[in-house]
Formats: sequence, C-alpha cells, structure tokens
Amino acid sequence: MHYPKSFKHLEAKLETAAVPTQCVHCGTCRNWYQSKYWNPVCPSGEWKGFDPYYLSGKMQLAQALLKGRISWSSEIARPFFECTLCGNCSEQCHVIETNGYKPIYDLAIPLLEAVRADAVSKGLGPEEHRKFGEAIATKYNPYNEAHENRTAWLKEAVGTTQLSNKPDFVYFVGCTASYRQKNIAISTVKAFKKLGLNFTILEDEYCCGSPMLRTGQWDPVKELAKHNIEAVQNSGASTIVASCPGCYKVWIHDYSKDNYGSLLGIEHNFKVYHTTQLLADLLKKGVLKFKSVPNATVTYHDPCHMGRNLGENAVYEPPRELLRAIPGVKLVEMERNKEVAWCCGSGGGVKGAFPDFALWTGEERVAEALATGAKTLVSACPFCQRNLDDSSQTLGAGMEVLDIMELVERAL
Ligand code: SF4
Ligand code: SF4
Repeated sequence: MHYPKSFKHLEAKLETAAVPTQCVHCGTCRNWYQSKYWNPVCPSGEWKGFDPYYLSGKMQLAQALLKGRISWSSEIARPFFECTLCGNCSEQCHVIETNGYKPIYDLAIPLLEAVRADAVSKGLGPEEHRKFGEAIATKYNPYNEAHENRTAWLKEAVGTTQLSNKPDFVYFVGCTASYRQKNIAISTVKAFKKLGLNFTILEDEYCCGSPMLRTGQWDPVKELAKHNIEAVQNSGASTIVASCPGCYKVWIHDYSKDNYGSLLGIEHNFKVYHTTQLLADLLKKGVLKFKSVPNATVTYHDPCHMGRNLGENAVYEPPRELLRAIPGVKLVEMERNKEVAWCCGSGGGVKGAFPDFALWTGEERVAEALATGAKTLVSACPFCQRNLDDSSQTLGAGMEVLDIMELVERAL
C-alpha cells in the first residue's frame, strides 16, 4: 500500500498487525444476538446486501490489496467509502490478540481509514470529499462558508460577542454547529450563561480536522491542529468542552499519541469533555437544577463518535443522567443502544457522498425510535440531528428530533 507523504510507519504498523489476515470470515461482524433475534449492525452491508460492504468483505479486499493480488480501481474503492465508519462491526468481532498481533476490534477503524487514505492518494476518493477537503484547507470549514462568519451566531445567542478573557474552559463549537446546526451552539452558550460558567470560544477556531481524518485526506490536519492548539493555549484555558462528538473524538482520541498524534506530530495536554459530561458533573454537585418541561417521552440516540469509537472514553451515561433528571421527561431506550446502537447514517463522509444511503440508514433509526413510543428523538451530535431529522421527514414520521442541549436549555 502507499500512504500519502510520510505515513510509511502506519503501513508498517498495519502490516505487522496483519489485521486483515486475521479475519476468519465468520460473519460475526454483521449481526448482534439480542432479545431472541439477530439484529443487523452494519448499515453499509445491509444497504448493499453484498459481502464487500460488510467488514469481512473489506478485510478480504484489504488483504488482497496488501498482498498485491488485486489493484486499486474505483469499484474496489467504493465499499471503503460507502461505509459510515460507525465501528459497530469491530464491536462484534471476537478475533482476539494472538501471536503479538493487535485484535481486529482495536484496529478495524484505523485500518479502514488508512485504506481510504491510500485510495485518496491514487485519486479514488469521492469528488464530494475532495471538494469539502479543499474548503477546509482554504476556509477552515467543510461548507465553503466565509471564515469571518464563523461566530455570527454568537450575538444572536447572548446579545454580545464579549465572553470571559480569563476562562476556565474553551467551548470548541465545531463547523457544523457554527454554520449549519446553529441551534446547538446557541442553546449551549445560553445554557452555560444561565449556569454562570466562566468560558470563552475561540475567535479564530478552525475545523478540528475530523472530516479530513475520516475521509483519508490527512495532509492538512497537522496545520489545523497546530492552529487550534495554539489558539486554546493563547486563551489561557487548559480545558476544552465540545458539543460535537466529531470534535470531541479528535481532541481526546485522535490527537493522542497512541492514535494519530505521533503519526501527525500533534501534541496537547488539555483536559477534554463533551458538554454532557460537564453538565452531568454539575448535576451531581447540585449546581445544575432543572425545572419542569411539558411531559415528553424521549428516546436517546448514541452518536458513534461519542460511544464505541472512543473505546474506554465512551460517553454513554452522562446524556442519560441529564435526560432522567429533567422533570417531565420520560426516557425510553431503543432496542439497539450504547455499544450496539445503529448508526444515524451521516458519518464517515457518507452524508455528502452517498445521500441516499445516509437517508436509508437514518430512516432505519427513526423507525426504531418510533417503535419505543417516543415522540422525541434526542441526540448529542449535530450530524446525527441533521440526518435523523431529514430521515424523519422523508419517512413522514413526524418525529421531533432535538439535540440534548436544546432540551437542557429549555429546562434551565
Ligand atoms: S467478525 Fe472479525 S473475523 Fe469475523 S468476519 Fe468479521 S472481521 Fe472477520
Ligand atoms: S463501520 Fe459501520 S458501516 Fe462500515 S463496515 Fe463497520 S458496521 Fe458497516
């Protein structure tokens, strides 16, 4: 395999790990046995009904590519990109560490991302990804919006752009809440203000780099990370709070030395929290007290980047603790939740490049939410909210789709 620029040692790591060659094609990565049924876990494979789209098929393709038995083509590249990188497959894989090899469940997603990087280096990534990559490299957001408009929502939220100049933490807003799902940024800042928290946002925040890492376009990531790390250092804070799981995963997981940190030469020592962790902590300390909201039965969708894709840093309970604490809210669970939650459908660059697949996956999730009897579907991720809301509309489900911060802010 050939990796962009200086990523040769990743090649060595993956080949030493021999991840694809350990795959025994047992097919366990397709389903999860639960409540007397085999529940599907893989959106990509279920959508296509064709082995190369399940992890087992991708492993076979990766192995053949590594051994030079097949060559790259757009047909070979497609299964790797028409995949939400939700990680549910690796959650199911039980191939264990043998002969010093890393287990598949630890390396499946890095492997899929490395294969994407290899495809991109051969010009085989989707055109939609190339376009948003170009926008991030030049305007620091994937939506090709003017960088100077990034914080335009702030005045609307709190009537001022003046926040603390000696902050306890930086609220890292992210591109999607800055330009598209502004409701999340606005609710978050309003909630922090109501709670009297001492925070700031970066005047010159860049994309965190998550869309580039997920889509195999790694080259600009170091510069984006360097800029954001310096900006946080200059704020005087050493803690980052993110409301977007993509940003949260980048800061707490991808930039750590065991993941992309050493590979890309990125280093930071900040403490990193998702908004729900910060607020659940305040709830436990008695600082946060909710008032009643009109009675609502809600169900919670776990974002992949806040759950299983974070391994031991997964955030499952804090959002549930918050929802259970709001008087008037009754939380009911979907059949597939936490480690085995069905993906919302918008991860891994799928929403941009394969919109029909994204909607099909989202409709599956909305149907599962409807089956709980809930009228409101709550998540904690701007991508999840957008795709689940779009899917509810195409399904004609009439489901209210909220970000958890909207509900929290209403109850403060
Ligand atoms: S569960 Fe693991 S070993 Fe089995 S087919 Fe899937 S990737 Fe291969
Ligand atoms: S990451 Fe998700 S969509 Fe991709 S192969 Fe695994 S389970 Fe399927």
